[in-house]
Amino acid sequence: MSGPVTPADAQLVGAHGTATPPTLEVLESRVGRVGAVKVRRALPRRGRRTVGAWCFADHMGPASVTPERSIDVGPHPHIGLQTVTWLTAGEILHRDSLGSEQVIRPGQLNLMTAGAGVSHSEEASGYRGELEGIQLWVAQPEATRHGAPAFEHHADLPQVDLLGATATVVVGELAGATSPARRDTDHVGLVLAVRAGRASLPLRAEYEHCLVVLDGEVEVDGTVVAPGQLAYLGTGRDELVPATRADATAMLLGGLPFEDDVLMWWNYVGRTTDEIDAAHRSWQADDGRFGRVASPLARISASAPPWAAADRD
Ligand code: MN
Repeated sequence: MSGPVTPADAQLVGAHGTATPPTLEVLESRVGRVGAVKVRRALPRRGRRTVGAWCFADHMGPASVTPERSIDVGPHPHIGLQTVTWLTAGEILHRDSLGSEQVIRPGQLNLMTAGAGVSHSEEASGYRGELEGIQLWVAQPEATRHGAPAFEHHADLPQVDLLGATATVVVGELAGATSPARRDTDHVGLVLAVRAGRASLPLRAEYEHCLVVLDGEVEVDGTVVAPGQLAYLGTGRDELVPATRADATAMLLGGLPFEDDVLMWWNYVGRTTDEIDAAHRSWQADDGRFGRVASPLARISASAPPWAAADRD
């Protein structure tokens, strides 16, 4: 047998131990730079656009930052997504067009919902030292993606003690512990502090999942996964048994496979080129759709989408 593992296949594995092994695809991240900080883009990758509603994952750092030189992303627009920011070291100052001004530190969550349009900046907070974390996007479903923008900061998130690991429930639910963060689709985001040895994490078999290792190495199904890689785990698993030789930190993302094919260009998540064109014209014209960010950094612009350039020829 070959091909994707369905929940029915997974039941066969459980019952007989001889059926199709569960999906494991290790994808290499693409290296880029945001301000003074190296980023490893784990999602989207060719052949893997979404995992549940998760559609973007940038592992930022580790980098050494100063009050003058940090991540320094000037005001820029978003539509149709939530930004999920999580740090393992350092600080970032978030400002947005709703008037939010929020420093984020390790163990905290910044969650911004773009809906029909929001703009924000990510700035040096005055902090000096190591900066590391992950920024993720969650595609919004049809029901909320044309709605109002919003911002939440959560300084206190539930933790679950597992065999061999502690999980922080950033978004969604694990073993009865539910994050207070807004959730527009059925998805989960966990930060796993895995101790040396073998751990066990319950999974929902109807979700697809992936693992992004932030620190150390984690072995899954006999394959070592390291920072700079995303391990796509498919659907149909009800347990993950990561093994490590030393303590490691990883982000486990999952959710029901997303309802639509998403179209992503620059900072926009939509469904059609027309709606992304309209958003981008509004941003470039500064017509008020994306509000204003009280930031000392310059507003970021981008040239027209590639399909728009082709239309003009
Ligand atoms: Mn952004």
